[in-house]
Order: sequence, then structure tokens, then C-alpha cells
Amino acid sequence: MPAVCWEGQSYQLNIHGGDNESVLDALLRNGAAVSYACKAGTCGSCMLRAASGVVPPRAQAGMKDSWKMQGYFLACVCQPETDLTVTTVAAETLIGASIVSLNDLSANVKQVRLRCDVPFDFHAGQYLTIIREGGLARSYSIASLPDEGDLELHVRRILNGRMSGWLHDGARPGDKVTILGPSGECFYAPGREDQPLLLAGTGTGLAPLWGVLRDALHNRHRGPIHVFHGAVDEGGLYLCDELRDLAQDHEQVTYTPVLLKGKPSPGNAIGAIDRIILERFPKLAGWRAYVAGDPGVVQSLRKQLFLAGAGSRDIFADAFLPSAGRQTFPREPNPP
Ligand SMILES: Cc1cc2nc3c(=O)[nH]c(=O)nc-3n(C[C@H](O)[C@H](O)[C@H](O)COP(=O)(O)OP(=O)(O)OC[C@H]3O[C@@H](n4cnc5c(N)ncnc54)[C@H](O)[C@@H]3O)c2cc1C
Repeated sequence: MPAVCWEGQSYQLNIHGGDNESVLDALLRNGAAVSYACKAGTCGSCMLRAASGVVPPRAQAGMKDSWKMQGYFLACVCQPETDLTVTTVAAETLIGASIVSLNDLSANVKQVRLRCDVPFDFHAGQYLTIIREGGLARSYSIASLPDEGDLELHVRRILNGRMSGWLHDGARPGDKVTILGPSGECFYAPGREDQPLLLAGTGTGLAPLWGVLRDALHNRHRGPIHVFHGAVDEGGLYLCDELRDLAQDHEQVTYTPVLLKGKPSPGNAIGAIDRIILERFPKLAGWRAYVAGDPGVVQSLRKQLFLAGAGSRDIFADAFLPSAGRQTFPREPNPP
């Protein structure tokens, strides 16, 4: 039975239904202070480094090559077949950043701008993990384009939320944080400029879509770009004027706010976002789709878009999985 070696201790992996336990579960079961949030291989909070042993490819899926070569992996989806010696991530993967500004985009959504201490390579629509003083770590999508300088995030206030509450009420311009990333494949890849694009998101799922939309236009995308932004009611919408202006300036762009509750009005749709989209576009063969926000909606859309003909390689989705458990970063090699 393989074992994971951590801070000089060796822990055997249990076997569940024929599968080896994940490195994260084995460490947590033995009381190790390891961070995690989504436990689904998405958010990046549980990233560790293998000092020796073989990391299964799934635990490094989507990581940049330089990180793979250094042995970084996501512990929650790492089920090794042989012994693995693991350590925390090194200081060079973490970047210091300062909060530049905090502005309200709506009553519940804050625009957070960050300035990195060193260059940070990313694509608009990817996400990063913010680590604040004390080690609390959370992921947020990047709404800005690389040549805009500062990073822009859209953070929804969550009741009793530790990171979102701090960013809404406690954080001030000049405050220091540490960031890790970027991660994710929800970004515009140039090429196929005539392909129809579908951008669908709920709540702050608009953040990566705002980045992808502007990056697509920046790259002179010519095909139609349909943006659907879902919210419970009008109070959940934001950037409406900016989206309408973009649609007015670019004939290939259409913007449709989709409300669960409310009165129909020109330009709005009322109902579930997946139903509205599929009613308008029942056949999606040849389309490229970007989907982000509420995990239930993302999962449903991903399935329905595929059934409507969109290729699985043309569907890019980021589910904003809520965090659970400890969710802190084990150490802070770069204290803010
Ligand atoms: C890949 C990825 C990208 C993300 N991008 C964004 C983004 O761009 N903008 C953004 O606002 N968020 C985004 N999130 C969610 C974000 O990472 C945090 O989970 C969120 O801000 C809540 O963190 P918190 O510390 O404020 O709340 P916590 O302290 O973790 O939670 C407080 C309480 O609220 C519950 N809770 C947590 N999240 C939710 C939720 N969504 N709905 C209802 N209850 C909840 C928790 O279970 C807990 O009981 C993303 C998540 C992932 C995985």
C-alpha cells in the first residue's frame, strides 16, 4: 500500500472501493495542517509539491508546464500508486500583491483591483487564489486583460463569508495579500475568429465572461458573441450599461440579462438561464461556450450545451464551488 511522507512522518493511504485515498484525505485524517477548499481539483488551495515519487497526471491537469516539472500537484485529486514525499509550495510560486481600489459594482458585488509586486502572466477569465494574512485562501476569476495593468476581480458578498466579508468591509487600499495562480481554462484562445461564442454566467460568474468578451474583441473575433447574465432579480445584475455599450459598439455582440424573478421588458428574459439559452439556440454544433458561476447552473449548462451539439472541447466552464472545512494556507513563505 503506498504511503505519503510529510514533515518526516509516513502515512499509509487507505483503499476505498479499490481506489487509493487522496493525498489530501490521508494528510487530513492524520491531523496534518494542510489547506483545502473545493476538494474537487478546481480551486488550487491544496497545492503541494512532490519532492520524490510519481505524481498521477490527473493531479497536475491544467497546470503550467514549469509547475509540473517542479512537482507541484493538487493533493485533493492525487491518488498515487507509489510512495510520495510531499512538501508545501515554495515561495517562488507565490506573488505579493497590494489592493489598489475597492469599488461597488452593485449592492453585493465589489470590484477589487490588485497590483502585483512582480509580473504575473495570465489570460483574462482564468482565476487566482488570494491568500490573506493568517493564511485564509480563496479563488477569484480575473476580469481584466493582461495589458490593463492591475488585476480586476468581482467579489460577491457571502453571508458570514470570511474572505468576501473582509474584502467588502475590512480591506483597504494598500493592504497586502499573496496570490497563487493563475489556473483554469476559461479564457479566449485566438483562432477560429468566425465561430459563434456563447458566454453564460450567474452572479459573479460574469467576472471571467467580462474578461473573455473583451479579450475576444481585442483579438478581433468576428463571429457572433452572445452574453447571458443570470441573476435572481435586477439587484443581482451589474455592468449592465457597460455591456449594453459594448453591444451597441460591436454588432456581433448581444447581451441578455436573465432574471429568475421580474417583469419581462425589452432586452431582458425571465426564467432559468439554461432554459432561455436552449430555447433561443437549440442547436449549438460548432459553437464555443464559456460558462461560470453557480455550480448547479454550470453543471446543468455544461450537460445541456453538450446535448445541443457543442463539442466537449469547446465548452470551458468554471464552477464557483464553495469552500468547506479549514481552508487556510499551511504556511506563508511570503508574509504580506
Ligand atoms: C474556480 C473558482 C472561481 C471563483 N471565482 C469567484 C469570483 O470570481 N467571484 C466570487 O465572488 N466568488 C468566486 N468564487 C468563490 C470564492 O472562492 C469563495 O468561495 C467565496 O467568495 C466565499 O468565500 P468566503 O470566505 O467569503 O466564505 P466562507 O467563509 O468560505 O463561507 C461562509 C459560509 O457561506 C457558505 N458559502 C460559501 N460560498 C457560498 C455560496 N457561493 N453560496 C452560498 N453559501 C456559500 C459556506 O458554506 C459557509 O457556510 C470562486 C470559486 C472557485 C472554486
